[in-house]
Amino acid sequence: MDKNPVISVVVPCHNEADCIGAFIERLRRVFADLPDYELELVFVNDGSTDNTLEILKQRLEKDPEIVIVDLSRNFGKEAALSAGLQQASGDAAIPMDADLQDPPELVPQMLQKWREGYDVVLAHRQSRAEDSLAKRLSARWFYRLHNLFSQPGLPENVGDFRLLDRRVINALQMLPENCRFMKGIFAWLGFRTASIDYDRPARIAGRSKFPAWKLWNFAMEGLTSFSTAPLRVWTYIGAFFALLAFVHASIIFWRTIFFGVDLPGYASLLVAITFFSGLQLMGIGIIGEYLGRTYLEAKRRPIFIIRKVYRGEK
Ligand code: UDP
Ligand code: MG
Repeated sequence: MDKNPVISVVVPCHNEADCIGAFIERLRRVFADLPDYELELVFVNDGSTDNTLEILKQRLEKDPEIVIVDLSRNFGKEAALSAGLQQASGDAAIPMDADLQDPPELVPQMLQKWREGYDVVLAHRQSRAEDSLAKRLSARWFYRLHNLFSQPGLPENVGDFRLLDRRVINALQMLPENCRFMKGIFAWLGFRTASIDYDRPARIAGRSKFPAWKLWNFAMEGLTSFSTAPLRVWTYIGAFFALLAFVHASIIFWRTIFFGVDLPGYASLLVAITFFSGLQLMGIGIIGEYLGRTYLEAKRRPIFIIRKVYRGEK
């Protein structure tokens, strides 16, 4: 008889002590109705300062399907997810947040699609009712801008919650970059992709680890990791203004010939200087953004450091 396929649920955790218990209960309830699949539960402790690790260790004694990947410090969610996927041994993996914002009840639908032959099954958020207006608007603009610049584009309103076939997990290990914008990396990988819809609930306990400035940096990382368009656009901006300057110069030239010299406005000169200084600084800033990332990549540091992996005795 064939062995049942193993599904690795990968959960990055940073200070999620209040969520883990409820998360495991709900996930197990779902898997209780899926006797044809085996669960492997990979928790990544991403430098938690609360007792997340202790709680996980206690759980491990009772639940042998748990694996704990303890990172040496907080590396951020993207790195934690990469660590979890590297350690996962399943035939497919599903990254999930510990706060139950990714409902485990969707797993059977994902597995159904997987059985149909899809390598990736995305969970697409139908509504963003739980998010603030600012977050909703910024998300919308981010996707527009990103997809304008980057090929292939990101599917909108899709997070890390998705099913990945073993082929996809293996392909992922071949991408060595340090700037890990996982959504973009997943999109870049391609593969046969299906999608299912869901409504994203609010987090069950604790606080979001992504304040506005972190989201902004994350968006910048997304843009600069997958497109060089923001760099190249300055050539065209420069050419456009050079052309404008040339037209303006000709106008001044002919006006001087026909009407003589008058004293041109001091205000317009100042406006032009400040405007173009600002524009140039922005251009330099963008170059800096890429240069910084190139520097980080050039160091070739590992994406994460694992302190210890705990596995249950099966
Ligand atoms: N997370 C992590 N490392 C971090 C920040 C977050 O592993 O540095 C985990 C966190 O524990 C949670 C998931 O990433 O399981 C999503 O975080 P959160 O719910 O705070 O993000 P939001 O849903 O608000 O975007
Ligand atoms: Mg959350």
